[in-house]
Amino acid sequence: KEDTTSSESKDVKGFKGHDMLAPFTAGSQTTDTHPLVIEKSEGSYVYDTNGRKYLDSLAGLWCTALGGNEPRLVDAANKQLTTLPFYHSFWNRTTRPSLDLATVLLQTFTARKMGKVFFTNSGSEANDTQVKLVWYYNNALGRPEKKKFIARNKSYHGSTLIAASLSGLPALHKNFDLPVPFVLHTDCPHYWRYHLPGETEEDFATRLANNLEEMILKEGPETIAAFIAEPVMGAGGVIPPPATYFEKVQAVVKKYDILFIADEVICAFGRLGTMFGCDKYNIKPDLVSLAKALSSGYMPIGAVLVSPEISDVIHSQSSKLGSFSHGFTYSGHPVSCAVALETLKIYKERNIIEQIQSLSPKFQDGIKAFSNSPIVGEIRGTGLIIGTEFVDNKSPNDLFPSEWGVGTIFGQECEKRGMLVRVAGDNIMMCPPFIITPEEIDQLISTYGEALTATE
Ligand code: PLP
Repeated sequence: KEDTTSSESKDVKGFKGHDMLAPFTAGSQTTDTHPLVIEKSEGSYVYDTNGRKYLDSLAGLWCTALGGNEPRLVDAANKQLTTLPFYHSFWNRTTRPSLDLATVLLQTFTARKMGKVFFTNSGSEANDTQVKLVWYYNNALGRPEKKKFIARNKSYHGSTLIAASLSGLPALHKNFDLPVPFVLHTDCPHYWRYHLPGETEEDFATRLANNLEEMILKEGPETIAAFIAEPVMGAGGVIPPPATYFEKVQAVVKKYDILFIADEVICAFGRLGTMFGCDKYNIKPDLVSLAKALSSGYMPIGAVLVSPEISDVIHSQSSKLGSFSHGFTYSGHPVSCAVALETLKIYKERNIIEQIQSLSPKFQDGIKAFSNSPIVGEIRGTGLIIGTEFVDNKSPNDLFPSEWGVGTIFGQECEKRGMLVRVAGDNIMMCPPFIITPEEIDQLISTYGEALTATE
Protein backbone atom coordinates (compact mmCIF):
# COMPACT_ATOMS: atom_id res chain seq x y z
CA LYS A 1 0.00 0.00 0.00
CA GLU A 2 1.38 3.40 -0.99
CA ASP A 3 0.63 4.81 2.39
CA THR A 4 1.39 2.17 4.96
CA THR A 5 2.83 3.30 8.27
CA SER A 6 5.99 1.78 9.56
CA SER A 7 7.63 1.86 12.93
CA GLU A 8 10.06 4.44 11.49
CA SER A 9 7.37 6.83 10.32
CA LYS A 10 5.09 7.13 13.31
CA ASP A 11 3.84 10.52 12.14
CA VAL A 12 2.00 8.91 9.21
CA LYS A 13 -1.41 7.60 10.19
CA GLY A 14 -1.17 5.04 7.40
CA PHE A 15 -3.15 2.00 6.22
CA LYS A 16 -5.30 4.08 3.90
CA GLY A 17 -7.17 1.80 1.49
CA HIS A 18 -6.41 -1.17 3.72
CA ASP A 19 -7.20 -4.80 3.00
CA MET A 20 -9.97 -5.29 5.55
CA LEU A 21 -13.65 -5.34 4.70
CA ALA A 22 -14.33 -3.42 7.87
CA PRO A 23 -17.46 -3.87 10.01
CA PHE A 24 -20.01 -1.04 9.97
CA THR A 25 -17.72 0.97 7.69
CA ALA A 26 -18.45 2.42 4.25
CA GLY A 27 -16.04 1.24 1.55
CA SER A 28 -15.44 4.86 0.58
CA GLN A 29 -14.47 5.64 4.17
CA THR A 30 -11.56 3.19 3.96
CA THR A 31 -10.32 4.54 0.61
CA ASP A 32 -10.86 8.25 1.28
CA THR A 33 -9.66 8.53 4.87
CA HIS A 34 -7.03 7.03 7.08
CA PRO A 35 -8.24 4.56 9.66
CA LEU A 36 -7.47 5.39 13.25
CA VAL A 37 -5.19 2.53 14.19
CA ILE A 38 -5.15 1.87 17.92
CA GLU A 39 -2.03 0.22 19.19
CA LYS A 40 -2.02 0.29 22.97
CA SER A 41 -4.36 0.82 25.89
CA GLU A 42 -3.83 1.90 29.46
CA GLY A 43 -6.61 2.39 32.00
CA SER A 44 -9.29 4.62 30.45
CA TYR A 45 -7.00 5.63 27.55
CA VAL A 46 -6.00 4.21 24.19
CA TYR A 47 -3.06 5.23 21.99
CA ASP A 48 -2.85 5.32 18.21
CA THR A 49 0.10 4.43 15.99
CA ASN A 50 1.33 8.02 16.23
CA GLY A 51 1.47 7.74 20.02
CA ARG A 52 -1.53 10.06 20.43
CA LYS A 53 -3.50 9.44 23.60
CA TYR A 54 -7.32 9.36 23.66
CA LEU A 55 -9.77 9.10 26.54
CA ASP A 56 -11.85 6.11 25.46
CA SER A 57 -15.34 7.30 26.36
CA LEU A 58 -16.98 4.22 24.82
CA ALA A 59 -14.86 1.60 26.65
CA GLY A 60 -13.79 0.07 23.32
CA LEU A 61 -17.21 -0.94 22.03
CA TRP A 62 -19.17 -0.70 25.32
CA CYS A 63 -17.05 -3.48 26.79
CA THR A 64 -13.63 -2.77 28.34
CA ALA A 65 -15.11 -2.15 31.77
CA LEU A 66 -11.81 -2.70 33.60
CA GLY A 67 -9.91 -0.49 31.18
CA GLY A 68 -6.91 -1.19 29.05
CA ASN A 69 -4.27 -3.03 31.00
CA GLU A 70 -5.67 -5.00 33.92
CA PRO A 71 -2.80 -7.38 34.73
CA ARG A 72 -5.01 -9.88 36.53
CA LEU A 73 -6.95 -10.53 33.32
CA VAL A 74 -3.73 -10.97 31.38
CA ASP A 75 -2.49 -13.41 34.04
CA ALA A 76 -5.77 -15.34 34.00
CA ALA A 77 -5.54 -15.68 30.20
CA ASN A 78 -1.86 -16.66 30.35
CA LYS A 79 -2.43 -19.26 33.02
CA GLN A 80 -5.27 -20.84 31.10
CA LEU A 81 -3.38 -20.68 27.79
CA THR A 82 -0.48 -22.47 29.44
CA THR A 83 -2.50 -25.27 31.03
CA LEU A 84 -5.31 -25.79 28.53
CA PRO A 85 -5.67 -23.34 25.65
CA PHE A 86 -8.67 -25.14 24.24
CA TYR A 87 -11.08 -27.90 24.79
CA HIS A 88 -14.74 -27.87 23.74
CA SER A 89 -17.98 -28.34 25.65
CA PHE A 90 -19.86 -30.64 23.23
CA TRP A 91 -21.31 -34.09 24.07
CA ASN A 92 -20.92 -33.70 27.83
CA ARG A 93 -17.21 -33.07 27.61
CA THR A 94 -16.16 -29.71 28.96
CA THR A 95 -13.60 -27.75 30.96
CA ARG A 96 -13.36 -26.43 34.52
CA PRO A 97 -13.49 -22.70 33.69
CA SER A 98 -16.75 -23.07 31.75
CA LEU A 99 -18.39 -25.09 34.54
CA ASP A 100 -17.20 -22.60 37.15
CA LEU A 101 -18.32 -19.59 35.13
CA ALA A 102 -21.81 -21.05 34.65
CA THR A 103 -22.12 -21.48 38.42
CA VAL A 104 -20.85 -17.97 39.17
CA LEU A 105 -23.23 -16.42 36.62
CA LEU A 106 -26.23 -18.18 38.13
CA GLN A 107 -25.16 -16.91 41.57
CA THR A 108 -24.59 -13.38 40.28
CA PHE A 109 -27.94 -12.96 38.55
CA THR A 110 -30.45 -12.51 41.36
CA ALA A 111 -33.35 -10.62 39.72
CA ARG A 112 -34.94 -14.08 39.65
CA LYS A 113 -33.65 -17.62 39.88
CA MET A 114 -32.13 -18.86 36.63
CA GLY A 115 -31.52 -22.52 35.77
CA LYS A 116 -28.72 -23.00 33.23
CA VAL A 117 -26.15 -21.10 31.17
CA PHE A 118 -25.36 -21.54 27.47
CA PHE A 119 -22.07 -20.04 26.26
CA THR A 120 -21.49 -18.23 22.97
CA ASN A 121 -18.71 -16.05 21.56
CA SER A 122 -20.68 -12.83 21.23
CA GLY A 123 -23.87 -10.96 21.94
CA SER A 124 -25.19 -11.67 18.44
CA GLU A 125 -24.70 -15.40 18.92
CA ALA A 126 -26.38 -15.14 22.32
CA ASN A 127 -29.46 -13.60 20.71
CA ASP A 128 -29.49 -16.13 17.86
CA THR A 129 -29.29 -18.80 20.52
CA GLN A 130 -32.28 -17.25 22.28
CA VAL A 131 -34.41 -17.76 19.18
CA LYS A 132 -33.38 -21.39 18.84
CA LEU A 133 -33.91 -22.06 22.55
CA VAL A 134 -37.39 -20.55 22.42
CA TRP A 135 -38.33 -22.49 19.28
CA TYR A 136 -36.97 -25.72 20.70
CA TYR A 137 -38.88 -25.07 23.91
CA ASN A 138 -42.17 -24.41 22.11
CA ASN A 139 -41.68 -27.46 19.88
CA ALA A 140 -41.03 -29.53 23.00
CA LEU A 141 -44.27 -28.21 24.51
CA GLY A 142 -46.18 -29.20 21.37
CA ARG A 143 -46.99 -25.68 20.22
CA PRO A 144 -45.05 -25.32 16.98
CA GLU A 145 -47.10 -22.31 15.86
CA LYS A 146 -45.79 -20.15 18.76
CA LYS A 147 -42.69 -18.85 16.93
CA LYS A 148 -42.83 -15.10 16.32
CA PHE A 149 -40.64 -12.58 18.11
CA ILE A 150 -41.48 -9.02 19.02
CA ALA A 151 -38.58 -6.59 19.32
CA ARG A 152 -38.59 -2.80 19.37
CA ASN A 153 -37.79 -0.04 16.91
CA LYS A 154 -34.26 1.35 17.49
CA SER A 155 -33.15 -1.71 19.44
CA TYR A 156 -29.75 -3.27 18.73
CA HIS A 157 -29.35 -7.00 19.26
CA GLY A 158 -26.40 -7.77 17.01
CA SER A 159 -25.65 -8.31 13.34
CA THR A 160 -26.02 -12.01 12.50
CA LEU A 161 -29.10 -12.77 10.37
CA ILE A 162 -31.46 -13.25 13.29
CA ALA A 163 -29.90 -10.72 15.67
CA ALA A 164 -29.96 -8.10 12.89
CA SER A 165 -33.60 -8.99 12.23
CA LEU A 166 -34.43 -8.50 15.90
CA SER A 167 -32.62 -5.17 15.84
CA GLY A 168 -34.90 -2.26 15.03
CA LEU A 169 -32.40 -0.16 13.09
CA PRO A 170 -33.13 0.25 9.35
CA ALA A 171 -29.42 0.24 8.40
CA LEU A 172 -29.17 -3.36 9.61
CA HIS A 173 -32.04 -4.44 7.34
CA LYS A 174 -31.52 -2.36 4.22
CA ASN A 175 -29.54 -4.19 1.51
CA PHE A 176 -29.70 -7.47 3.45
CA ASP A 177 -33.35 -8.47 2.77
CA LEU A 178 -34.06 -8.37 6.50
CA PRO A 179 -35.81 -8.67 8.87
CA VAL A 180 -36.83 -12.30 8.54
CA PRO A 181 -40.63 -12.61 8.52
CA PHE A 182 -41.11 -14.03 12.01
CA VAL A 183 -39.78 -10.85 13.66
CA LEU A 184 -42.10 -7.92 14.39
CA HIS A 185 -41.18 -4.53 15.78
CA THR A 186 -43.14 -2.47 18.27
CA ASP A 187 -42.65 1.07 19.58
CA CYS A 188 -39.36 2.51 20.74
CA PRO A 189 -39.92 3.68 24.33
CA HIS A 190 -38.36 7.10 23.83
CA TYR A 191 -40.57 9.56 25.67
CA TRP A 192 -38.89 12.80 24.51
CA ARG A 193 -39.11 11.85 20.84
CA TYR A 194 -42.41 10.03 20.65
CA HIS A 195 -44.78 11.26 23.37
CA LEU A 196 -47.99 12.95 22.30
CA PRO A 197 -48.78 16.52 23.41
CA GLY A 198 -49.85 16.52 27.05
CA GLU A 199 -48.92 12.86 27.56
CA THR A 200 -47.07 12.07 30.81
CA GLU A 201 -44.28 9.52 30.90
CA GLU A 202 -46.62 7.08 32.52
CA ASP A 203 -49.41 7.72 29.96
CA PHE A 204 -46.82 7.16 27.24
CA ALA A 205 -45.79 3.84 28.81
CA THR A 206 -49.46 2.83 29.03
CA ARG A 207 -50.00 3.66 25.36
CA LEU A 208 -46.95 1.62 24.34
CA ALA A 209 -48.09 -1.36 26.42
CA ASN A 210 -51.54 -1.07 24.81
CA ASN A 211 -49.98 -0.96 21.35
CA LEU A 212 -47.97 -4.07 22.19
CA GLU A 213 -51.11 -5.84 23.34
CA GLU A 214 -52.91 -4.82 20.13
CA MET A 215 -50.07 -6.22 18.04
CA ILE A 216 -50.19 -9.51 19.97
CA LEU A 217 -53.97 -9.79 19.55
CA LYS A 218 -53.81 -8.92 15.85
CA GLU A 219 -51.12 -11.55 15.18
CA GLY A 220 -52.75 -14.09 17.50
CA PRO A 221 -51.16 -14.66 20.94
CA GLU A 222 -50.73 -18.34 20.08
CA THR A 223 -48.19 -17.29 17.40
CA ILE A 224 -46.04 -14.99 19.56
CA ALA A 225 -43.17 -16.74 21.32
CA ALA A 226 -41.10 -14.01 22.92
CA PHE A 227 -40.49 -10.32 23.45
CA ILE A 228 -36.90 -9.06 23.54
CA ALA A 229 -35.69 -5.79 25.06
CA GLU A 230 -32.55 -4.06 26.24
CA PRO A 231 -33.18 -2.56 29.71
CA VAL A 232 -31.60 0.68 28.46
CA MET A 233 -31.38 0.81 24.66
CA GLY A 234 -27.72 1.25 23.75
CA ALA A 235 -26.69 1.58 20.11
CA GLY A 236 -30.12 3.01 19.21
CA GLY A 237 -29.08 6.18 21.04
CA VAL A 238 -28.95 5.37 24.79
CA ILE A 239 -32.64 5.38 25.64
CA PRO A 240 -33.62 4.64 29.24
CA PRO A 241 -37.22 3.44 29.55
CA PRO A 242 -39.98 5.76 30.78
CA ALA A 243 -41.34 5.27 34.30
CA THR A 244 -43.45 2.09 34.68
CA TYR A 245 -42.72 0.95 31.08
CA PHE A 246 -41.25 -2.44 31.98
CA GLU A 247 -43.89 -3.08 34.63
CA LYS A 248 -46.64 -2.56 32.04
CA VAL A 249 -44.94 -4.44 29.22
CA GLN A 250 -44.16 -7.41 31.44
CA ALA A 251 -47.82 -7.60 32.49
CA VAL A 252 -48.85 -7.77 28.81
CA VAL A 253 -46.42 -10.48 27.76
CA LYS A 254 -47.18 -12.55 30.84
CA LYS A 255 -50.91 -12.39 30.10
CA TYR A 256 -50.32 -14.09 26.73
CA ASP A 257 -47.71 -16.61 27.85
CA ILE A 258 -44.97 -14.83 25.91
CA LEU A 259 -41.38 -15.20 27.11
CA PHE A 260 -39.39 -12.13 28.11
CA ILE A 261 -35.78 -11.96 26.90
CA ALA A 262 -33.60 -9.31 28.55
CA ASP A 263 -30.72 -8.32 26.28
CA GLU A 264 -28.23 -7.26 28.94
CA VAL A 265 -25.23 -7.21 26.59
CA ILE A 266 -24.51 -3.55 27.43
CA CYS A 267 -26.38 -3.09 30.72
CA ALA A 268 -25.02 -6.00 32.76
CA PHE A 269 -22.38 -6.03 35.50
CA GLY A 270 -22.84 -2.49 36.78
CA ARG A 271 -23.18 -0.21 33.77
CA LEU A 272 -26.47 1.24 35.08
CA GLY A 273 -25.36 1.34 38.72
CA THR A 274 -26.97 -2.02 39.47
CA MET A 275 -25.53 -5.46 38.78
CA PHE A 276 -28.03 -5.99 35.94
CA GLY A 277 -30.52 -3.81 34.10
CA CYS A 278 -33.15 -6.28 35.31
CA ASP A 279 -32.37 -5.25 38.91
CA LYS A 280 -32.81 -1.59 38.07
CA TYR A 281 -36.16 -1.95 36.31
CA ASN A 282 -37.54 -4.91 38.24
CA ILE A 283 -37.55 -7.17 35.19
CA LYS A 284 -38.13 -10.89 35.78
CA PRO A 285 -36.92 -12.35 32.49
CA ASP A 286 -37.18 -15.89 31.21
CA LEU A 287 -33.92 -15.56 29.29
CA VAL A 288 -30.96 -13.17 29.50
CA SER A 289 -28.24 -12.36 26.95
CA LEU A 290 -24.79 -11.37 28.18
CA ALA A 291 -21.45 -10.47 26.53
CA LYS A 292 -19.08 -7.47 26.48
CA ALA A 293 -18.28 -6.58 30.15
CA LEU A 294 -18.57 -10.28 31.02
CA SER A 295 -14.87 -10.51 30.10
CA SER A 296 -14.24 -6.77 30.13
CA GLY A 297 -13.80 -7.23 26.38
CA TYR A 298 -10.46 -9.01 26.86
CA MET A 299 -11.69 -12.24 25.26
CA PRO A 300 -14.75 -12.85 23.07
CA ILE A 301 -17.53 -14.45 25.09
CA GLY A 302 -21.30 -14.31 25.38
CA ALA A 303 -23.79 -16.21 27.48
CA VAL A 304 -27.48 -16.98 27.70
CA LEU A 305 -29.09 -17.46 31.09
CA VAL A 306 -32.04 -19.81 30.85
CA SER A 307 -34.89 -20.00 33.37
CA PRO A 308 -35.38 -23.29 35.22
CA GLU A 309 -38.79 -23.71 33.52
CA ILE A 310 -37.20 -23.62 30.06
CA SER A 311 -34.08 -25.61 30.91
CA ASP A 312 -36.24 -28.28 32.65
CA VAL A 313 -38.33 -28.70 29.50
CA ILE A 314 -35.22 -28.90 27.32
CA HIS A 315 -33.73 -31.53 29.60
CA SER A 316 -36.87 -33.56 30.18
CA GLN A 317 -37.91 -33.60 26.52
CA SER A 318 -34.58 -34.75 25.17
CA SER A 319 -35.80 -38.34 24.80
CA LYS A 320 -38.54 -37.01 22.49
CA LEU A 321 -36.54 -34.34 20.65
CA GLY A 322 -32.99 -35.63 20.78
CA SER A 323 -30.04 -33.48 21.74
CA PHE A 324 -30.09 -29.68 21.77
CA SER A 325 -28.13 -29.60 18.51
CA HIS A 326 -26.82 -26.09 18.71
CA GLY A 327 -23.46 -24.71 19.77
CA PHE A 328 -20.20 -23.26 18.62
CA THR A 329 -16.70 -24.75 18.60
CA TYR A 330 -15.78 -22.03 21.06
CA SER A 331 -18.90 -22.21 23.29
CA GLY A 332 -17.40 -22.06 26.77
CA HIS A 333 -13.86 -21.47 25.47
CA PRO A 334 -11.67 -22.10 28.53
CA VAL A 335 -9.51 -18.99 28.06
CA SER A 336 -12.55 -16.72 27.64
CA CYS A 337 -14.23 -18.34 30.65
CA ALA A 338 -11.09 -18.02 32.80
CA VAL A 339 -10.85 -14.32 31.91
CA ALA A 340 -14.58 -13.83 32.59
CA LEU A 341 -14.25 -15.54 35.98
CA GLU A 342 -11.42 -13.21 36.93
CA THR A 343 -13.39 -10.22 35.64
CA LEU A 344 -16.39 -11.06 37.82
CA LYS A 345 -14.08 -11.62 40.79
CA ILE A 346 -12.56 -8.17 40.32
CA TYR A 347 -15.99 -6.50 40.04
CA LYS A 348 -16.88 -8.06 43.36
CA GLU A 349 -13.62 -7.35 45.18
CA ARG A 350 -13.57 -3.74 44.05
CA ASN A 351 -17.25 -3.13 44.87
CA ILE A 352 -17.74 -2.02 41.32
CA ILE A 353 -21.46 -1.32 41.78
CA GLU A 354 -20.91 1.11 44.66
CA GLN A 355 -18.04 2.67 42.72
CA ILE A 356 -20.30 3.29 39.71
CA GLN A 357 -23.08 4.61 41.94
CA SER A 358 -20.69 7.13 43.44
CA LEU A 359 -19.23 8.21 40.05
CA SER A 360 -22.55 8.37 38.23
CA PRO A 361 -23.89 11.74 39.56
CA LYS A 362 -20.67 13.52 38.59
CA PHE A 363 -20.73 11.95 35.12
CA GLN A 364 -24.46 12.37 34.47
CA ASP A 365 -24.83 15.87 35.96
CA GLY A 366 -21.62 17.07 34.30
CA ILE A 367 -22.78 16.12 30.80
CA LYS A 368 -26.44 16.99 31.36
CA ALA A 369 -25.33 20.52 32.32
CA PHE A 370 -24.88 21.05 28.55
CA SER A 371 -28.58 20.43 27.86
CA ASN A 372 -29.12 24.14 27.21
CA SER A 373 -26.87 24.17 24.18
CA PRO A 374 -28.85 25.37 21.15
CA ILE A 375 -27.94 22.22 19.19
CA VAL A 376 -28.74 19.72 21.95
CA GLY A 377 -32.22 18.21 21.91
CA GLU A 378 -31.82 15.80 24.77
CA ILE A 379 -29.09 14.34 26.95
CA ARG A 380 -30.18 11.10 28.61
CA GLY A 381 -28.58 8.35 30.60
CA THR A 382 -28.08 6.63 33.90
CA GLY A 383 -25.13 5.09 35.71
CA LEU A 384 -22.13 5.23 33.40
CA ILE A 385 -23.93 5.47 30.07
CA ILE A 386 -25.13 8.63 28.39
CA GLY A 387 -26.47 9.72 25.01
CA THR A 388 -26.78 13.14 23.38
CA GLU A 389 -29.11 13.89 20.51
CA PHE A 390 -28.50 16.94 18.34
CA VAL A 391 -31.54 18.67 16.81
CA ASP A 392 -32.43 22.11 15.55
CA ASN A 393 -34.65 24.46 17.58
CA LYS A 394 -34.53 22.11 20.61
CA SER A 395 -37.30 20.12 18.91
CA PRO A 396 -37.32 16.35 18.33
CA ASN A 397 -39.08 17.06 15.03
CA ASP A 398 -36.44 19.42 13.64
CA LEU A 399 -33.58 17.20 12.56
CA PHE A 400 -30.47 18.87 11.14
CA PRO A 401 -29.99 18.09 7.44
CA SER A 402 -27.93 14.90 7.40
CA GLU A 403 -25.42 16.44 4.96
CA TRP A 404 -24.44 18.92 7.69
CA GLY A 405 -23.02 15.98 9.63
CA VAL A 406 -23.45 17.66 13.01
CA GLY A 407 -22.74 14.44 14.94
CA THR A 408 -19.70 13.71 12.80
CA ILE A 409 -18.32 17.21 13.38
CA PHE A 410 -18.80 16.81 17.14
CA GLY A 411 -17.02 13.43 17.01
CA GLN A 412 -14.11 15.00 15.11
CA GLU A 413 -13.90 17.88 17.57
CA CYS A 414 -13.69 15.36 20.42
CA GLU A 415 -11.03 13.34 18.59
CA LYS A 416 -8.95 16.49 17.96
CA ARG A 417 -9.04 17.09 21.70
CA GLY A 418 -8.03 13.54 22.58
CA MET A 419 -11.33 11.79 23.23
CA LEU A 420 -13.15 9.05 21.29
CA VAL A 421 -16.95 8.99 21.31
CA ARG A 422 -19.51 6.91 19.43
CA VAL A 423 -21.28 8.84 16.69
CA ALA A 424 -24.43 7.52 15.01
CA GLY A 425 -25.95 10.22 12.84
CA ASP A 426 -26.70 13.07 15.23
CA ASN A 427 -26.58 10.81 18.28
CA ILE A 428 -23.50 10.73 20.47
CA MET A 429 -22.97 7.90 22.93
CA MET A 430 -20.53 7.50 25.77
CA CYS A 431 -20.08 4.66 28.26
CA PRO A 432 -16.64 4.89 29.82
CA PRO A 433 -14.80 2.08 31.59
CA PHE A 434 -16.05 1.32 35.11
CA ILE A 435 -12.56 2.19 36.37
CA ILE A 436 -12.71 5.78 35.12
CA THR A 437 -11.48 8.16 37.85
CA PRO A 438 -13.16 11.40 38.99
CA GLU A 439 -10.30 13.36 37.35
CA GLU A 440 -10.83 11.51 34.08
CA ILE A 441 -14.55 12.29 34.29
CA ASP A 442 -13.60 15.98 34.65
CA GLN A 443 -11.49 15.65 31.51
CA LEU A 444 -14.33 13.87 29.69
CA ILE A 445 -16.79 16.63 30.62
CA SER A 446 -14.50 19.50 29.70
CA THR A 447 -13.57 17.88 26.36
CA TYR A 448 -17.26 17.31 25.63
CA GLY A 449 -17.97 20.97 26.46
CA GLU A 450 -15.20 22.31 24.24
CA ALA A 451 -16.22 20.05 21.34
CA LEU A 452 -19.81 21.18 21.76
CA THR A 453 -18.88 24.86 21.65
CA ALA A 454 -16.77 24.22 18.54
CA THR A 455 -19.69 22.38 16.90
CA GLU A 456 -22.25 25.08 17.74
N1 PLP B 1 -27.03 -6.84 22.12
C1 PLP B 1 -26.74 -5.59 22.48
C2 PLP B 1 -27.64 -4.87 23.42
C3 PLP B 1 -25.60 -4.96 21.99
O1 PLP B 1 -25.33 -3.69 22.32
C4 PLP B 1 -24.75 -5.70 21.13
C5 PLP B 1 -23.51 -5.08 20.60
O2 PLP B 1 -23.29 -3.89 20.70
C6 PLP B 1 -25.11 -6.99 20.78
C7 PLP B 1 -26.25 -7.54 21.30
C8 PLP B 1 -24.27 -7.77 19.83
O3 PLP B 1 -23.11 -8.17 20.44
P1 PLP B 1 -21.83 -8.63 19.56
O4 PLP B 1 -21.37 -7.44 18.84
O5 PLP B 1 -20.89 -9.15 20.60
O6 PLP B 1 -22.30 -9.70 18.64
